[in-house]
Amino acid sequence: MTDCIFCKIAAGEIPSEFVYEDDQVVGFRDLNPQAPTHVLLIPRRHIATLNELRPEDEALVGHLYTAAAEVARREGLAEAGYRTVINCNADGGQTVFHLHLHLLGGRRMSWPPG
Ligand code: 5GP
Ligand code: ZN
Repeated sequence: MTDCIFCKIAAGEIPSEFVYEDDQVVGFRDLNPQAPTHVLLIPRRHIATLNELRPEDEALVGHLYTAAAEVARREGLAEAGYRTVINCNADGGQTVFHLHLHLLGGRRMSWPPG
């Protein structure tokens, strides 16, 4: 999608440092981090929200999570723990409409989320 900021990041049109990269997924640090480690993992392909997922995307979404676990290991978060979040639409707090998984760690998370 031409007007999507995360499509542009994935395509390298906005220079960003990737903490994770493969043929399907890229990971980069959140501009406004909510924890000492806050990485966003996105599919390279534009999918607006969780609502747009189709059955053929199931492997891709699974891959987003294995990529998150890999980044958590690399960032030294795996043992202490971390949180993964996908927000959907207004009530979920989604502000960028290209599917992304938040990986948050480096501090104790509270529950329930706000
Ligand atoms: P959402 O609220 O949609 O779940 O999360 C969007 C996230 O993207 C926010 O945490 C916000 O800080 C982050 N973000 C928005 N624009 C950019 C950007 O241009 N670069 C990066 N690295 N993060 C962004
Ligand atoms: Zn996009």
